[in-house]
Amino acid sequence: SPDVFSTDAWMRRFVQSAHTAKDRLTALDQEVGDGDFGINLSTGAHFTLRHLEANPASDNDPAAPLHAAATAFLDEVGGTSGPLFGLLFQSLAFSVAAAGSATTPALAAGAADGLAAIRRVGDAAPGDKTLVDALGPAAEALRTAPEGTPPTEALARAADAAWAGVSETARLRARMGRSSYLGERAEGVPDPGAVGIGLLFASARAVVE
Ligand code: ADP
Ligand code: MG
Ligand code: MG
Repeated sequence: SPDVFSTDAWMRRFVQSAHTAKDRLTALDQEVGDGDFGINLSTGAHFTLRHLEANPASDNDPAAPLHAAATAFLDEVGGTSGPLFGLLFQSLAFSVAAAGSATTPALAAGAADGLAAIRRVGDAAPGDKTLVDALGPAAEALRTAPEGTPPTEALARAADAAWAGVSETARLRARMGRSSYLGERAEGVPDPGAVGIGLLFASARAVVE
């Protein structure tokens, strides 16, 4: 059905993307942070894959791969980004579980809930040069997808919106997180966590039904 797509394939593709982008993300976080974001994201990816392999995907449980990612990031990843990505995956997993399949409305609700949880915990506002600047537009793109938009297409729209947000972060001076200590030195460099969010949504586009 075009109304469901494989969250297992999505998470596996994200794992690959995180590993591929590791050095680039490390370089970005060296410029605006403490240099560990590439390691943090690929550590989350590594444990996500371990959980996926330990619990082979069941077509009947589209929330399981998202829950695998949530557990990996919440339990195994340090830094600020581990718990924040974990909250996003957890919200997506809850929403998909409640809907019974990974529909566009379920993904939209999960992204919105994840954004709210991240903002509650991290206290970042839009424009603070954090992953909120990529996730906010992505969640909005999902929410406003025309009725009947298949999940893969809706997530592709979310990816476009996230990347626009990533570009925006390059023009912003940070007020939150470590890059806030750098002031204008961080201008011109995109926020690494925002790039991670872009990779997450872009990974869904690469999944072929
Ligand atoms: P740390 O700064 O602890 O080393 P990471 O390198 O794992 O954390 O992650 C850095 C990313 O976390 C940043 O690029 C930013 O997107 C995100 N981040 C940092 N602080 C916040 C916050 N308060 N709210 C939302 N995202 C944040
Ligand atoms: Mg860091
Ligand atoms: Mg760190």
